[in-house]
Amino acid sequence: MIPITTFSGLDVAVFGLGASGNATAYALMEGGARVAAWDDSEAGRKSAAAAGVPLVDLFREDWSRFAALILAPGVPLTHPEPHWTVGKARAAGVDVIGDIELFCRERAAICPAAPFIAITGTNGKSTTTALIAHILKEAGHDVQLGGNIGRAILTLEPLQPERFYVVECSSFQIDLAPSIRPSVGVLLNVTPDHLDRHGTMENYARVKERLVAGADAAAVVVDDDCTRAIAGKYLAAGKPLLTASTLDSADITYEGSVVSYHGEPVADLAGVPSLRGRHNGENACAAYGALRLAGLFDNEIAPFLSTYPGLPHRMEQIGRLGDTLFINDSKATNAESTAKALAAWPEGIHLILGGKAKDGGIEGLRCFFPRLTKAYLIGAATDEFASTLGTAVPFEACGTLDVAVARATQDALTSGAAESVVLLSPACASYDQFKNFEERGDYFRRLVAAELARRGTP
Ligand code: ADP
Repeated sequence: MIPITTFSGLDVAVFGLGASGNATAYALMEGGARVAAWDDSEAGRKSAAAAGVPLVDLFREDWSRFAALILAPGVPLTHPEPHWTVGKARAAGVDVIGDIELFCRERAAICPAAPFIAITGTNGKSTTTALIAHILKEAGHDVQLGGNIGRAILTLEPLQPERFYVVECSSFQIDLAPSIRPSVGVLLNVTPDHLDRHGTMENYARVKERLVAGADAAAVVVDDDCTRAIAGKYLAAGKPLLTASTLDSADITYEGSVVSYHGEPVADLAGVPSLRGRHNGENACAAYGALRLAGLFDNEIAPFLSTYPGLPHRMEQIGRLGDTLFINDSKATNAESTAKALAAWPEGIHLILGGKAKDGGIEGLRCFFPRLTKAYLIGAATDEFASTLGTAVPFEACGTLDVAVARATQDALTSGAAESVVLLSPACASYDQFKNFEERGDYFRRLVAAELARRGTP
Protein backbone atom coordinates (compact mmCIF):
# COMPACT_ATOMS: atom_id res chain seq x y z
CA MET A 1 0.00 0.00 0.00
CA ILE A 2 1.06 3.61 -0.59
CA PRO A 3 0.18 5.50 2.62
CA ILE A 4 -1.11 8.99 1.80
CA THR A 5 0.44 11.43 4.24
CA THR A 6 -0.53 14.66 2.49
CA PHE A 7 -3.90 14.70 4.30
CA SER A 8 -2.52 13.74 7.70
CA GLY A 9 -4.66 15.14 10.53
CA LEU A 10 -7.41 16.24 8.10
CA ASP A 11 -10.97 15.04 7.46
CA VAL A 12 -11.44 13.46 4.04
CA ALA A 13 -14.67 12.25 2.41
CA VAL A 14 -14.42 9.13 0.24
CA PHE A 15 -17.33 8.24 -2.02
CA GLY A 16 -17.71 5.03 -4.08
CA LEU A 17 -16.62 1.98 -2.14
CA GLY A 18 -15.50 -0.55 -4.74
CA ALA A 19 -11.99 -2.01 -4.63
CA SER A 20 -10.30 1.34 -5.36
CA GLY A 21 -12.51 3.29 -2.92
CA ASN A 22 -11.71 0.92 -0.06
CA ALA A 23 -7.99 1.02 -0.93
CA THR A 24 -8.17 4.83 -0.91
CA ALA A 25 -9.76 4.83 2.54
CA TYR A 26 -7.05 2.52 3.94
CA ALA A 27 -4.20 4.51 2.34
CA LEU A 28 -5.56 7.78 3.78
CA MET A 29 -6.05 6.28 7.25
CA GLU A 30 -2.58 4.72 7.15
CA GLY A 31 -1.18 8.19 6.40
CA GLY A 32 -3.02 9.77 9.35
CA ALA A 33 -6.20 11.22 7.77
CA ARG A 34 -9.68 10.91 9.34
CA VAL A 35 -11.87 9.21 6.73
CA ALA A 36 -15.63 9.50 6.26
CA ALA A 37 -16.65 7.00 3.59
CA TRP A 38 -19.98 6.38 1.89
CA ASP A 39 -21.65 4.65 -1.05
CA ASP A 40 -25.16 4.89 -2.50
CA SER A 41 -25.47 1.09 -2.51
CA GLU A 42 -26.17 -0.74 0.70
CA ALA A 43 -24.17 -3.75 -0.46
CA GLY A 44 -21.14 -1.47 -1.06
CA ARG A 45 -21.50 0.06 2.40
CA LYS A 46 -21.85 -3.34 4.06
CA SER A 47 -18.76 -4.84 2.49
CA ALA A 48 -16.73 -1.68 3.20
CA ALA A 49 -17.83 -1.66 6.85
CA ALA A 50 -16.93 -5.35 7.15
CA ALA A 51 -13.47 -4.46 5.81
CA GLY A 52 -13.01 -1.79 8.50
CA VAL A 53 -13.75 1.33 6.45
CA PRO A 54 -15.43 4.00 8.65
CA LEU A 55 -18.87 4.91 7.24
CA VAL A 56 -20.52 8.32 7.63
CA ASP A 57 -23.78 9.31 5.92
CA LEU A 58 -22.32 12.06 3.72
CA PHE A 59 -25.79 13.21 2.67
CA ARG A 60 -26.44 14.50 6.19
CA GLU A 61 -22.92 15.61 6.97
CA ASP A 62 -21.56 19.17 7.38
CA TRP A 63 -19.16 19.37 4.42
CA SER A 64 -17.24 22.39 5.69
CA ARG A 65 -15.03 20.04 7.73
CA PHE A 66 -13.67 18.13 4.74
CA ALA A 67 -10.32 18.90 3.12
CA ALA A 68 -11.26 16.93 -0.01
CA LEU A 69 -13.76 14.54 -1.57
CA ILE A 70 -12.12 11.49 -3.13
CA LEU A 71 -14.45 10.22 -5.80
CA ALA A 72 -14.37 6.77 -7.45
CA PRO A 73 -13.79 7.20 -11.21
CA GLY A 74 -17.11 5.58 -12.14
CA VAL A 75 -19.10 8.28 -10.34
CA PRO A 76 -20.20 11.17 -12.64
CA LEU A 77 -18.18 14.36 -12.09
CA THR A 78 -19.79 16.52 -14.78
CA HIS A 79 -21.98 14.50 -17.20
CA PRO A 80 -24.75 13.52 -17.54
CA GLU A 81 -24.94 15.51 -14.29
CA PRO A 82 -22.66 15.82 -11.27
CA HIS A 83 -23.28 13.27 -8.55
CA TRP A 84 -24.89 14.72 -5.38
CA THR A 85 -21.61 14.46 -3.48
CA VAL A 86 -19.96 16.67 -6.12
CA GLY A 87 -22.70 19.28 -5.62
CA LYS A 88 -22.22 19.25 -1.86
CA ALA A 89 -18.42 19.43 -2.15
CA ARG A 90 -18.56 22.35 -4.57
CA ALA A 91 -21.07 24.24 -2.44
CA ALA A 92 -18.68 23.90 0.52
CA GLY A 93 -15.57 24.78 -1.53
CA VAL A 94 -14.13 21.26 -1.12
CA ASP A 95 -11.70 19.85 -3.74
CA VAL A 96 -13.02 16.88 -5.75
CA ILE A 97 -10.22 14.51 -6.73
CA GLY A 98 -9.45 10.81 -7.30
CA ASP A 99 -6.96 8.20 -6.15
CA ILE A 100 -4.45 8.97 -8.93
CA GLU A 101 -4.36 12.59 -7.73
CA LEU A 102 -3.57 11.34 -4.22
CA PHE A 103 -0.69 9.31 -5.68
CA CYS A 104 0.58 12.34 -7.66
CA ARG A 105 0.52 14.61 -4.60
CA GLU A 106 2.24 11.99 -2.44
CA ARG A 107 4.91 11.40 -5.08
CA ALA A 108 5.51 15.17 -5.42
CA ALA A 109 5.77 15.52 -1.63
CA ILE A 110 7.92 12.56 -0.64
CA CYS A 111 9.49 10.92 -3.69
CA PRO A 112 9.50 13.08 -6.83
CA ALA A 113 12.33 10.99 -8.32
CA ALA A 114 10.17 7.85 -8.60
CA PRO A 115 9.72 7.29 -12.35
CA PHE A 116 6.04 7.55 -13.25
CA ILE A 117 4.89 6.51 -16.72
CA ALA A 118 1.21 7.32 -17.33
CA ILE A 119 -0.63 5.91 -20.34
CA THR A 120 -3.90 7.04 -21.89
CA GLY A 121 -5.81 6.93 -25.17
CA THR A 122 -9.21 5.74 -26.34
CA ASN A 123 -7.92 2.28 -27.28
CA GLY A 124 -4.82 0.22 -26.51
CA LYS A 125 -4.19 1.54 -22.99
CA SER A 126 -4.03 -1.84 -21.24
CA THR A 127 -1.87 -3.43 -23.92
CA THR A 128 0.61 -0.56 -23.93
CA THR A 129 0.72 -0.35 -20.14
CA ALA A 130 1.31 -4.09 -19.77
CA LEU A 131 3.93 -4.03 -22.54
CA ILE A 132 5.88 -1.18 -20.92
CA ALA A 133 5.79 -2.93 -17.54
CA HIS A 134 6.88 -6.23 -19.12
CA ILE A 135 9.91 -4.64 -20.81
CA LEU A 136 10.97 -2.76 -17.67
CA LYS A 137 10.75 -5.96 -15.65
CA GLU A 138 12.71 -7.98 -18.20
CA ALA A 139 15.35 -5.23 -18.29
CA GLY A 140 15.80 -5.71 -14.56
CA HIS A 141 13.89 -2.77 -13.11
CA ASP A 142 11.65 -2.63 -10.06
CA VAL A 143 8.16 -2.12 -11.57
CA GLN A 144 4.69 -1.50 -10.23
CA LEU A 145 1.74 -1.76 -12.64
CA GLY A 146 -1.75 -0.52 -11.88
CA GLY A 147 -4.40 2.19 -12.14
CA ASN A 148 -7.15 1.38 -14.63
CA ILE A 149 -5.61 -2.09 -15.14
CA GLY A 150 -5.08 -4.70 -12.45
CA ARG A 151 -4.48 -3.19 -9.03
CA ALA A 152 -5.86 0.16 -7.79
CA ILE A 153 -2.95 2.60 -7.69
CA LEU A 154 -2.86 3.03 -3.90
CA THR A 155 -2.52 -0.72 -3.37
CA LEU A 156 0.88 -0.68 -5.12
CA GLU A 157 4.16 -0.96 -3.21
CA PRO A 158 5.32 2.24 -1.43
CA LEU A 159 7.10 4.99 -3.35
CA GLN A 160 10.85 4.57 -3.81
CA PRO A 161 13.21 6.64 -5.97
CA GLU A 162 14.12 3.83 -8.41
CA ARG A 163 10.78 2.08 -8.48
CA PHE A 164 8.90 2.53 -11.77
CA TYR A 165 5.15 3.17 -11.59
CA VAL A 166 3.45 2.26 -14.87
CA VAL A 167 -0.11 3.51 -14.62
CA GLU A 168 -3.01 3.18 -17.04
CA CYS A 169 -5.27 6.25 -16.79
CA SER A 170 -8.84 6.40 -18.09
CA SER A 171 -10.28 9.78 -19.01
CA PHE A 172 -12.39 9.64 -15.83
CA GLN A 173 -9.26 9.20 -13.73
CA ILE A 174 -7.44 12.07 -15.48
CA ASP A 175 -10.48 14.27 -14.93
CA LEU A 176 -10.02 13.66 -11.20
CA ALA A 177 -6.24 14.25 -11.24
CA PRO A 178 -5.67 17.99 -11.77
CA SER A 179 -1.98 17.87 -10.85
CA ILE A 180 -0.99 14.81 -12.87
CA ARG A 181 2.64 15.32 -13.95
CA PRO A 182 4.14 11.98 -15.00
CA SER A 183 7.81 11.71 -15.86
CA VAL A 184 6.62 10.26 -19.18
CA GLY A 185 3.11 10.72 -20.57
CA VAL A 186 1.89 8.38 -23.32
CA LEU A 187 -1.03 9.25 -25.59
CA LEU A 188 -2.18 6.63 -28.09
CA ASN A 189 -5.26 7.95 -29.89
CA VAL A 190 -8.38 10.01 -29.29
CA THR A 191 -11.58 8.93 -31.03
CA PRO A 192 -15.18 9.57 -29.92
CA ASP A 193 -15.95 7.53 -26.79
CA HIS A 194 -17.59 8.07 -23.41
CA LEU A 195 -19.16 11.30 -24.68
CA ASP A 196 -22.07 10.64 -22.31
CA ARG A 197 -19.56 11.28 -19.49
CA HIS A 198 -17.56 14.10 -21.07
CA GLY A 199 -20.29 15.99 -22.92
CA THR A 200 -18.43 16.84 -26.11
CA MET A 201 -15.47 15.58 -28.11
CA GLU A 202 -13.64 18.84 -27.22
CA ASN A 203 -14.02 18.15 -23.50
CA TYR A 204 -12.95 14.55 -23.93
CA ALA A 205 -9.85 15.57 -25.92
CA ARG A 206 -9.01 18.29 -23.37
CA VAL A 207 -9.03 15.69 -20.59
CA LYS A 208 -6.74 13.36 -22.54
CA GLU A 209 -4.41 16.27 -23.36
CA ARG A 210 -3.94 17.08 -19.67
CA LEU A 211 -2.00 13.87 -19.09
CA VAL A 212 0.51 14.84 -21.79
CA ALA A 213 0.57 18.59 -21.09
CA GLY A 214 1.76 18.04 -17.52
CA ALA A 215 4.37 15.40 -18.39
CA ASP A 216 8.14 15.99 -18.23
CA ALA A 217 8.42 14.11 -21.54
CA ALA A 218 5.84 12.60 -23.87
CA ALA A 219 5.41 9.81 -26.41
CA VAL A 220 2.45 10.55 -28.69
CA VAL A 221 1.05 8.48 -31.55
CA VAL A 222 0.16 11.08 -34.17
CA ASP A 223 -2.21 9.03 -36.32
CA ASP A 224 -5.34 11.11 -35.65
CA ASP A 225 -6.00 14.84 -35.94
CA CYS A 226 -6.56 15.24 -32.24
CA THR A 227 -3.31 13.62 -31.07
CA ARG A 228 -1.36 15.39 -33.84
CA ALA A 229 -2.59 18.76 -32.56
CA ILE A 230 -1.71 17.83 -28.98
CA ALA A 231 1.82 16.75 -30.03
CA GLY A 232 2.25 20.05 -31.91
CA LYS A 233 1.37 22.09 -28.84
CA TYR A 234 3.68 20.00 -26.65
CA LEU A 235 6.58 20.47 -29.05
CA ALA A 236 5.92 24.22 -29.23
CA ALA A 237 6.24 24.29 -25.43
CA GLY A 238 9.81 23.02 -25.92
CA LYS A 239 9.42 19.74 -24.03
CA PRO A 240 11.01 16.40 -25.02
CA LEU A 241 8.66 14.59 -27.37
CA LEU A 242 8.86 11.37 -29.38
CA THR A 243 6.19 10.97 -32.03
CA ALA A 244 5.07 7.57 -33.31
CA SER A 245 3.11 6.62 -36.39
CA THR A 246 1.90 3.58 -38.30
CA LEU A 247 0.92 5.71 -41.30
CA ASP A 248 3.46 8.43 -41.79
CA SER A 249 6.96 9.59 -40.92
CA ALA A 250 7.65 10.10 -37.20
CA ASP A 251 10.41 9.47 -34.67
CA ILE A 252 9.16 5.91 -34.27
CA THR A 253 7.39 4.14 -37.11
CA TYR A 254 5.72 0.82 -37.83
CA GLU A 255 5.83 -0.39 -41.41
CA GLY A 256 5.04 -3.92 -42.53
CA SER A 257 5.75 -5.44 -39.16
CA VAL A 258 8.92 -3.52 -38.40
CA VAL A 259 9.35 -0.91 -35.66
CA SER A 260 11.99 1.70 -36.52
CA TYR A 261 13.54 4.46 -34.45
CA HIS A 262 14.73 7.48 -36.42
CA GLY A 263 14.73 5.35 -39.56
CA GLU A 264 16.73 2.45 -38.06
CA PRO A 265 14.85 -0.88 -37.71
CA VAL A 266 14.78 -1.97 -34.05
CA ALA A 267 12.33 -4.89 -33.96
CA ASP A 268 10.29 -7.07 -36.29
CA LEU A 269 6.94 -8.09 -34.75
CA ALA A 270 6.06 -10.57 -37.54
CA GLY A 271 6.40 -13.66 -35.35
CA VAL A 272 5.00 -12.15 -32.15
CA PRO A 273 1.45 -13.53 -31.65
CA SER A 274 0.65 -11.15 -28.77
CA LEU A 275 1.30 -8.08 -30.94
CA ARG A 276 -0.55 -9.00 -34.14
CA GLY A 277 -2.03 -6.22 -36.25
CA ARG A 278 -1.29 -2.60 -37.01
CA HIS A 279 -3.02 -1.40 -33.84
CA ASN A 280 -0.51 -3.39 -31.80
CA GLY A 281 2.24 -1.90 -33.95
CA GLU A 282 0.98 1.45 -32.68
CA ASN A 283 1.06 0.21 -29.09
CA ALA A 284 4.59 -1.17 -29.55
CA CYS A 285 5.83 2.14 -31.03
CA ALA A 286 4.34 4.08 -28.12
CA ALA A 287 5.90 1.70 -25.59
CA TYR A 288 9.29 1.97 -27.29
CA GLY A 289 9.10 5.78 -27.27
CA ALA A 290 8.03 5.92 -23.62
CA LEU A 291 10.91 3.71 -22.55
CA ARG A 292 13.52 5.67 -24.54
CA LEU A 293 12.22 8.80 -22.82
CA ALA A 294 12.44 6.99 -19.48
CA GLY A 295 16.16 6.52 -20.12
CA LEU A 296 16.36 2.92 -21.37
CA PHE A 297 18.69 2.03 -24.22
CA ASP A 298 17.60 0.23 -27.36
CA ASN A 299 19.17 -3.05 -26.21
CA GLU A 300 17.08 -2.93 -23.01
CA ILE A 301 13.83 -2.53 -24.99
CA ALA A 302 13.91 -4.16 -28.42
CA PRO A 303 14.63 -7.78 -27.36
CA PHE A 304 11.71 -7.80 -24.93
CA LEU A 305 9.05 -6.55 -27.35
CA SER A 306 9.03 -10.05 -28.82
CA THR A 307 8.69 -11.82 -25.46
CA TYR A 308 5.56 -9.88 -24.45
CA PRO A 309 3.07 -12.56 -23.33
CA GLY A 310 -0.05 -10.48 -24.07
CA LEU A 311 -3.17 -9.91 -22.02
CA PRO A 312 -6.05 -12.34 -21.73
CA HIS A 313 -9.03 -11.77 -24.06
CA ARG A 314 -7.16 -9.44 -26.46
CA MET A 315 -6.16 -11.32 -29.61
CA GLU A 316 -4.99 -14.06 -27.28
CA GLN A 317 -3.81 -17.18 -29.05
CA ILE A 318 -5.26 -19.99 -26.96
CA GLY A 319 -4.60 -22.98 -29.18
CA ARG A 320 -3.46 -24.40 -32.47
CA LEU A 321 -4.48 -27.56 -34.26
CA GLY A 322 -2.42 -28.16 -37.39
CA ASP A 323 -2.76 -24.98 -39.41
CA THR A 324 -5.79 -23.72 -37.50
CA LEU A 325 -5.34 -21.03 -34.84
CA PHE A 326 -7.81 -20.39 -32.04
CA ILE A 327 -7.93 -16.74 -30.96
CA ASN A 328 -9.77 -15.24 -27.98
CA ASP A 329 -10.58 -11.57 -28.62
CA SER A 330 -13.56 -11.42 -26.26
CA LYS A 331 -12.56 -7.86 -25.26
CA ALA A 332 -13.74 -6.68 -28.70
CA THR A 333 -17.13 -5.37 -27.60
CA ASN A 334 -17.72 -3.13 -30.62
CA ALA A 335 -17.23 -3.30 -34.38
CA GLU A 336 -14.23 -0.98 -34.27
CA SER A 337 -12.29 -3.45 -32.12
CA THR A 338 -13.39 -6.44 -34.19
CA ALA A 339 -12.14 -4.62 -37.30
CA LYS A 340 -8.65 -4.54 -35.73
CA ALA A 341 -8.77 -8.31 -35.28
CA LEU A 342 -10.03 -8.99 -38.81
CA ALA A 343 -7.26 -6.83 -40.25
CA ALA A 344 -4.71 -9.32 -38.89
CA TRP A 345 -5.59 -12.17 -41.33
CA PRO A 346 -6.15 -11.77 -45.07
CA GLU A 347 -8.49 -14.81 -45.34
CA GLY A 348 -9.62 -18.05 -43.75
CA ILE A 349 -11.39 -16.46 -40.77
CA HIS A 350 -14.15 -18.42 -39.02
CA LEU A 351 -15.63 -15.60 -36.97
CA ILE A 352 -17.78 -16.12 -33.89
CA LEU A 353 -19.71 -12.95 -33.16
CA GLY A 354 -22.82 -11.63 -31.50
CA GLY A 355 -24.18 -10.74 -28.08
CA LYS A 356 -25.73 -7.40 -27.25
CA ALA A 357 -25.12 -5.23 -30.32
CA LYS A 358 -23.88 -1.64 -30.21
CA ASP A 359 -25.38 1.15 -32.35
CA GLY A 360 -24.47 0.58 -35.99
CA GLY A 361 -24.04 -3.18 -35.45
CA ILE A 362 -21.46 -4.66 -37.84
CA GLU A 363 -22.02 -2.30 -40.80
CA GLY A 364 -18.49 -1.00 -40.21
CA LEU A 365 -17.04 -4.46 -40.86
CA ARG A 366 -18.36 -4.71 -44.42
CA CYS A 367 -14.95 -4.12 -46.02
CA PHE A 368 -13.63 -7.17 -44.14
CA PHE A 369 -16.41 -9.52 -45.28
CA PRO A 370 -14.25 -11.03 -48.09
CA ARG A 371 -11.81 -12.25 -45.41
CA LEU A 372 -14.49 -14.32 -43.67
CA THR A 373 -14.88 -17.95 -44.64
CA LYS A 374 -17.97 -18.14 -42.44
CA ALA A 375 -19.63 -16.37 -39.50
CA TYR A 376 -21.17 -18.12 -36.46
CA LEU A 377 -23.79 -15.95 -34.76
CA ILE A 378 -24.64 -16.06 -31.06
CA GLY A 379 -26.88 -14.13 -28.71
CA ALA A 380 -29.36 -11.30 -29.07
CA ALA A 381 -27.75 -9.72 -32.15
CA THR A 382 -28.34 -12.80 -34.32
CA ASP A 383 -31.20 -11.47 -36.49
CA GLU A 384 -29.64 -8.03 -36.96
CA PHE A 385 -26.24 -9.44 -37.90
CA ALA A 386 -27.79 -12.08 -40.16
CA SER A 387 -29.49 -9.36 -42.16
CA THR A 388 -26.26 -7.32 -42.41
CA LEU A 389 -24.29 -10.38 -43.60
CA GLY A 390 -27.06 -11.21 -46.08
CA THR A 391 -25.61 -13.18 -48.98
CA ALA A 392 -22.16 -11.60 -48.66
CA VAL A 393 -20.89 -14.09 -46.07
CA PRO A 394 -22.04 -17.65 -45.33
CA PHE A 395 -23.32 -17.73 -41.77
CA GLU A 396 -24.99 -19.99 -39.26
CA ALA A 397 -27.22 -18.97 -36.35
CA CYS A 398 -25.69 -20.98 -33.50
CA GLY A 399 -27.47 -19.41 -30.53
CA THR A 400 -24.83 -20.20 -27.93
CA LEU A 401 -21.06 -20.17 -27.77
CA ASP A 402 -20.67 -23.93 -27.27
CA VAL A 403 -22.51 -24.66 -30.51
CA ALA A 404 -20.54 -21.94 -32.33
CA VAL A 405 -17.16 -23.33 -31.20
CA ALA A 406 -18.08 -26.87 -32.22
CA ARG A 407 -19.31 -25.77 -35.66
CA ALA A 408 -16.46 -23.35 -36.34
CA THR A 409 -13.82 -25.89 -35.30
CA GLN A 410 -15.28 -28.60 -37.49
CA ASP A 411 -15.51 -26.26 -40.51
CA ALA A 412 -12.01 -24.81 -40.03
CA LEU A 413 -10.39 -28.23 -39.75
CA THR A 414 -12.12 -29.55 -42.85
CA SER A 415 -11.88 -26.39 -44.95
CA GLY A 416 -8.73 -27.47 -46.76
CA ALA A 417 -7.32 -23.94 -46.44
CA ALA A 418 -3.58 -23.56 -45.94
CA GLU A 419 -4.22 -21.51 -42.78
CA SER A 420 -7.43 -20.83 -40.92
CA VAL A 421 -8.49 -19.05 -37.77
CA VAL A 422 -11.31 -19.69 -35.32
CA LEU A 423 -11.76 -16.20 -33.93
CA LEU A 424 -14.02 -15.06 -31.10
CA SER A 425 -14.24 -11.31 -31.68
CA PRO A 426 -17.90 -10.64 -30.97
CA ALA A 427 -18.33 -6.91 -31.81
CA CYS A 428 -20.89 -6.92 -29.00
CA ALA A 429 -21.28 -6.55 -25.27
CA SER A 430 -21.67 -9.88 -23.51
CA TYR A 431 -24.44 -9.05 -21.03
CA ASP A 432 -27.22 -10.98 -22.75
CA GLN A 433 -25.45 -14.30 -22.09
CA PHE A 434 -22.50 -13.61 -19.78
CA LYS A 435 -21.58 -11.51 -16.77
CA ASN A 436 -18.81 -9.71 -18.67
CA PHE A 437 -16.32 -10.15 -21.53
CA GLU A 438 -13.90 -11.99 -19.23
CA GLU A 439 -16.47 -14.68 -18.43
CA ARG A 440 -17.26 -15.01 -22.16
CA GLY A 441 -13.56 -15.36 -23.01
CA ASP A 442 -12.91 -17.85 -20.22
CA TYR A 443 -15.80 -20.01 -21.40
CA PHE A 444 -14.43 -19.87 -24.96
CA ARG A 445 -11.04 -20.96 -23.64
CA ARG A 446 -12.59 -23.97 -21.88
CA LEU A 447 -14.59 -24.95 -24.97
CA VAL A 448 -11.50 -24.76 -27.19
CA ALA A 449 -9.44 -26.77 -24.70
CA ALA A 450 -12.14 -29.46 -24.73
CA GLU A 451 -12.19 -29.51 -28.57
CA LEU A 452 -8.39 -29.82 -28.70
CA ALA A 453 -8.38 -32.58 -26.08
CA ARG A 454 -11.14 -34.45 -27.89
CA ARG A 455 -9.27 -34.19 -31.16
CA GLY A 456 -6.03 -35.43 -29.66
CA THR A 457 -4.02 -32.28 -28.90
CA PRO A 458 -3.27 -31.41 -25.25
P1 ADP B 1 -8.05 -0.31 -23.59
O1 ADP B 1 -7.35 -0.62 -22.31
O2 ADP B 1 -7.79 1.12 -24.04
O3 ADP B 1 -9.50 -0.69 -23.61
P2 ADP B 1 -6.81 -2.70 -24.71
O4 ADP B 1 -5.33 -2.69 -24.80
O5 ADP B 1 -7.44 -3.47 -23.62
O6 ADP B 1 -7.34 -1.20 -24.73
O7 ADP B 1 -7.38 -3.24 -26.11
C1 ADP B 1 -8.78 -3.41 -26.26
C2 ADP B 1 -9.16 -3.62 -27.73
O8 ADP B 1 -8.94 -2.37 -28.41
C3 ADP B 1 -8.28 -4.63 -28.41
O9 ADP B 1 -8.85 -5.92 -28.35
C4 ADP B 1 -8.22 -4.11 -29.83
O10 ADP B 1 -9.35 -4.56 -30.53
C5 ADP B 1 -8.35 -2.60 -29.69
N1 ADP B 1 -7.05 -1.88 -29.70
C6 ADP B 1 -5.92 -2.16 -28.99
N2 ADP B 1 -4.96 -1.28 -29.27
C7 ADP B 1 -5.48 -0.38 -30.13
C8 ADP B 1 -4.99 0.79 -30.77
N3 ADP B 1 -3.75 1.22 -30.57
N4 ADP B 1 -5.82 1.44 -31.62
C9 ADP B 1 -7.08 1.02 -31.83
N5 ADP B 1 -7.60 -0.08 -31.26
C10 ADP B 1 -6.82 -0.78 -30.42
